[in-house]
Amino acid sequence: MPPSPARQLRSGLAVLLAATALVMATAACGTQPGGGSGSGSPSDPEQAVVTSFYPLQFAVEQITGGAVPVTVLTKPGTEPHDLELAPQDVARMSKARLVVYADGFQPAVDEAIAEVQPTSVLDVADAADLSLTLAEESGHDGGSTQEHDAHDHAGSDPHFWLDPQRYAAVAKVIGARLGKDDPARAAAYGRNTSAFVAKLTALDGQLRSGLTSCRARVLVTSHAAFGYLAQRYGLQQHGITGISPDAEPSGAGLKQISDLVRSQGVTTIYQETLVEPHFAQTVAGSTGASVATLDPLEGITSASAGGDYFEVMRSNLHALQKGLGCS
Ligand SMILES: [Zn+2]
Repeated sequence: MPPSPARQLRSGLAVLLAATALVMATAACGTQPGGGSGSGSPSDPEQAVVTSFYPLQFAVEQITGGAVPVTVLTKPGTEPHDLELAPQDVARMSKARLVVYADGFQPAVDEAIAEVQPTSVLDVADAADLSLTLAEESGHDGGSTQEHDAHDHAGSDPHFWLDPQRYAAVAKVIGARLGKDDPARAAAYGRNTSAFVAKLTALDGQLRSGLTSCRARVLVTSHAAFGYLAQRYGLQQHGITGISPDAEPSGAGLKQISDLVRSQGVTTIYQETLVEPHFAQTVAGSTGASVATLDPLEGITSASAGGDYFEVMRSNLHALQKGLGCS
């Protein structure tokens, strides 16, 4: 039996009303002002997760799997410690569905967070367990690191991502927060987080076994980015500059590093991709050591020894095995 004309009219009206509601909802999302209400609007496909630098960008991309746009404040190929933000960057932060950063690493980002007070902010510094700080009284000007009881992250060693276990802890916190803010995608984010953590756990195992039997355990690096990695796998890091690559070593500091290289029989000085290699080459030149590259993964460029975090970390492992004489 065909539906009555009245019933046809009612169902036609219902479809029309639903369509109108959808159009209105879409329009409302499109015109939502920046820094708007609550914890972002998961229904707006254009609203990005803004990350402060590469390892946080990579983690968010791995977890969201392309479901939402992900942007990064530190442009590829620039060194992140002394990042400067343009007004547009601060505007992007205030419109983000979530800003993911690590307090105490990039002063410009810390300042902008305080200034803009975005409604959605995730600071991963606590999850990263930044328990190393620059040793103020260490023998030389460079950056050997020591344990401290930090809750204030200023002065902490920020390079947590070079320790896959710390990076995995940060990834879990990011995944949980993204899922909480976007319940419709929470299950997918949870699966992606688990897959990412599993890859980091596998990398941790490769680093551990690859760095077990080495002729040398003293690691001389350009800036002191490898403190957590060194601590995790039983190496002793000595940075030629400090925790930030801008801090120039003094003549006395360079001499002390060179003396250490000679007395410890260090055969390889590690330079970086984003930092000018002058000081690493000076120490190598004065000691007869050779120079190799160790990438602190503060950004990926065409000069990087791999296309993403995992590829570059495996390249780092090979460079360490070669320079430290690991079997
Ligand atoms: Zn650094």
